Amino acid sequence: MAVKGKKTSRGKTSGKRADKPPASQCDSKPVVVIGAGPAGLAAAFGLSVKNNVKCVVIEKDSIAGGLSKTLEHNGFRFDIGPHRFFTKNKEVAALWQDIMGDDFLVCKRCTRIYYDNIFFSYPLRPLEIVFKLGLVKSVLVALSYIKRRLFPLVPEDSFSSWVRNRFGDRLYGIFFHDYTKKVWGVEPGNISADWAAQRIRALSFSKVVKDMLGLSGVDKQTSLVSCFNYPRLGAGQMCEAMASEIIKSGSEIIFGAEVVSIFVSDGRVCSVAFRQHDGQQISVDVEAVVSSMPLDDLVRALEPAKPEVTAAADSLSYRSLVAVTLMFDKPLLVADHWIYINSSDVKAGRMNLFHNWSESMAPEGSSSIELEYFCNDTDPMWTAPDSELKQSAMEDISKIDFLKNLTPSDFKVVRYHKSYPCYFGKYREAVSSIRAHLSTIVNLLPVGRYGQFRYNNMDHSVETGMLAAKAILGHKVDVWAVNEDAEYHEEVSDENAL
Ligand SMILES: Cc1cc2nc3c(=O)[nH]c(=O)nc-3n(C[C@H](O)[C@H](O)[C@H](O)COP(=O)(O)OP(=O)(O)OC[C@H]3O[C@@H](n4cnc5c(N)ncnc54)[C@H](O)[C@@H]3O)c2cc1C
Repeated sequence: MAVKGKKTSRGKTSGKRADKPPASQCDSKPVVVIGAGPAGLAAAFGLSVKNNVKCVVIEKDSIAGGLSKTLEHNGFRFDIGPHRFFTKNKEVAALWQDIMGDDFLVCKRCTRIYYDNIFFSYPLRPLEIVFKLGLVKSVLVALSYIKRRLFPLVPEDSFSSWVRNRFGDRLYGIFFHDYTKKVWGVEPGNISADWAAQRIRALSFSKVVKDMLGLSGVDKQTSLVSCFNYPRLGAGQMCEAMASEIIKSGSEIIFGAEVVSIFVSDGRVCSVAFRQHDGQQISVDVEAVVSSMPLDDLVRALEPAKPEVTAAADSLSYRSLVAVTLMFDKPLLVADHWIYINSSDVKAGRMNLFHNWSESMAPEGSSSIELEYFCNDTDPMWTAPDSELKQSAMEDISKIDFLKNLTPSDFKVVRYHKSYPCYFGKYREAVSSIRAHLSTIVNLLPVGRYGQFRYNNMDHSVETGMLAAKAILGHKVDVWAVNEDAEYHEEVSDENAL
């Protein structure tokens, strides 16, 4: 599928709305990119900005960024959950740095776990654990670790057995159980061990101790163990900047438009139909399609449909996210970027303090806390009125010492559908049968996090988009090869382990 670069004049700005026919209707066929999140934009950037290949990006939201977008409310800026920029992929790192320049801040990470009214540093520090738990509990923790080393749980097929075998039952209870249950909404014993293996692959009790004693053999100065990058105006600034370069290079981004059908003939996508916010449906002929829409939605959009593949798609599930941001007209005197809540009495799973990421995220002298609530789209929380969600957030902060006497001056609720692909049940078999079917459609490339139904971070998502661009340009690359079996990017810092 090699598409030749076509000369376009740089700097030309295309209309953002579909109030004129897509380029394909008056020009040669474009590459259609579904979704203006990190993956879709990386593909369009590689094609349009770097190689002058015309793209039409179709995005159902009104702004760029997808899950990595930044929202603004009365001078406060916040992301959908914490979005830290970290990668070991040199090409992704260079792209990010090139796009952000001086606006790519370096943050010295400060994160903690809240458990039973105690804050523990995260990544874990064994001496601090001993100090805060006390001698008796610490001895019990050590004994339970030794027990699991001698008598591991078999088979090691669930999140809980995977973690308990590496940390012991007691540490698992203190640091992993409640938070994991909140994220997934099921007992961690029912979650596939794949998730633990992918997220906390290289972390174990013995590694934590070795790191503390300086025996892990890693140069901490250069390992990025305690630093990450962050755009000055929030994670979404990256996607907004990429989107503007893509438009400048002559391609189009159509916001507020949802892809509803993808027509396939003779093993190729020939056209894509999208519905605009005014209900009008538009069809566009395509050279190729890069899709970052959820994998199950992609399958359901394919025409003709294949019932057994649609059934596999219907079996995939996701967790959704309700983020409640409380704003305060005074500073908060803690330095955390985010805090994991591993206590069942507080309903929120995590709290994010974006003013600690960049001072441009809140007006001077003010601060905010975003509380993340993970839920299914069938849970009452998903449709609860904003005022009720604010009340839950207020109840939660009233249980935490440094927050309990604060009264917010404002609040904002944001709901994000399908934020975590669930590694439950027979999801592997379902994804492989979908992949087998999609591989028969030569000019369709699924990319990104829910585009591949894989727990991809931004860098993985960007990498899949870059690979899709290379594939379209005729290189022999596999978009599915990202984050498949690689040693997890954060084996040193394990920051996203939870
Ligand atoms: C709470 C949370 C915290 C995270 N923290 C980090 C972090 O610290 N570091 C990190 O690197 N990553 C993090 N991630 C992961 C990161 O958000 C994703 O990897 C990344 O945003 C995925 O990019 P994407 O382009 O694949 O998908 P998305 O960002 O989801 O973008 C897909 C886009 O497609 C659009 N779309 C969907 N369907 C259609 C359709 N039918 N038609 C048109 N448009 C459509 C959506 O509106 C969306 O804009 C986090 C994720 C979550 C949920």
